[in-house]
Amino acid sequence: MPDSSSLMSRRRLLQGAGAMWLLSVSKVGFAASSQVIAVRVWPASSYTRVTLESNHQLKYRQFALSNPERVVVDIEGAHLNSVLKGIGSQVRGDDPFIKSARVGQFDPKTVRMVFELKQNVTPHLFGLAPVAEFKERLVMDLYPANMNSEQDPLLALLEDYNTGQLDKKMPAEKGPQPGKAGRDRPIVIMLDPGHGGEDPGAIGPNKTREKDIVLSIARRLKALLDKEGNMKAYMTRNEDVFIPLKVRVAKAQKQRADLFVSIHADAFTTAAARGSSVFALSTKGATSTAAKYLAQTQNASDLIGGVGKSGDRYLDHTMFDMVQSLTINDSLKFGKEVLHRLGKVNKLHKNSVDQAGFAVLKAPDIPSILVETAFLSNPEEERKLRTAKFQQEVAESILAGIKAYFSDSSRLARRG
Ligand SMILES: [Zn+2]
Repeated sequence: MPDSSSLMSRRRLLQGAGAMWLLSVSKVGFAASSQVIAVRVWPASSYTRVTLESNHQLKYRQFALSNPERVVVDIEGAHLNSVLKGIGSQVRGDDPFIKSARVGQFDPKTVRMVFELKQNVTPHLFGLAPVAEFKERLVMDLYPANMNSEQDPLLALLEDYNTGQLDKKMPAEKGPQPGKAGRDRPIVIMLDPGHGGEDPGAIGPNKTREKDIVLSIARRLKALLDKEGNMKAYMTRNEDVFIPLKVRVAKAQKQRADLFVSIHADAFTTAAARGSSVFALSTKGATSTAAKYLAQTQNASDLIGGVGKSGDRYLDHTMFDMVQSLTINDSLKFGKEVLHRLGKVNKLHKNSVDQAGFAVLKAPDIPSILVETAFLSNPEEERKLRTAKFQQEVAESILAGIKAYFSDSSRLARRG
């Protein structure tokens, strides 16, 4: 380790040169030689993510070049290997932000990556400590330089999230719109396919990824809801992109949704676990061991998918206190309607709505449920989850649950 004085002078020197070496995680202890073991590029309409996975923390600096517009990332103490050389082939033709990527050994100690761009971007780099099966990661998110919040509300939320502004702005968003949902105005439903991008969710014995199955079910459900005439469905994600849990909740609040439905297909520690379940939020801890386990693994999504410097302390947040028992009661009623109908298309894991502290269910005024459609860790249910028939049956069951919930006249009167 260099002593602090030489670090200081070096830092000044580098600042003078317009860039600074940064550790991917703001702690000391990187090794002299780092091995990049995987490179992944996740293009999406809102932002593109580039992930470098390595055995040690990467020391990097990033700067921009123009004519043509480029983002350059230098990695110190790394050597060019076949993984890094493959980065160019990871860039897809339809990537909205990256035109091409190339890599070279800039000097004996430095690997230089150059990303040629399709539009001006704001890069956001951060490190992620090892979690689940992932080792050290250096993440670069490329957002459009001129974010048009009006055109893309998701981008505005992501920007607020990345700049730490989301908490301040959230309380300004009220719960559901005034008027009787379904009579004076459409019923607004926010569908939340779990996981996405760097976070695959559960992976079945035959390699089925939860993120793909739940997106497919959510799309089917959206199509059904939009056909109803008096309903309008939105999705927290409609592509293979990582969206932080808090941003998912914020999106529902921004649309002033009447209901929030998070869709999952998870794994349990034993392959024998099976059946559908429905969860609502609990402020008092989990009602069962399975619920506790699932809440832990679901809340870990941010760590796996990649939440950077803003460090999501969602579980401790004061908004948790704002969650009203009224909303939880409505969530339980709604969950019961959905569970009842799921019981007609699949075995139930448990006959009542389970409760646990899921971060994604924490919109204070919006009745919210998390549907575990089936267990991907169970080979038989994995097979079922892959079929269009079962995906459609699940979507129809949730639709029927939503309709039943809104046909409850006493509840409608109160909401109206
Ligand atoms: Zn899940």
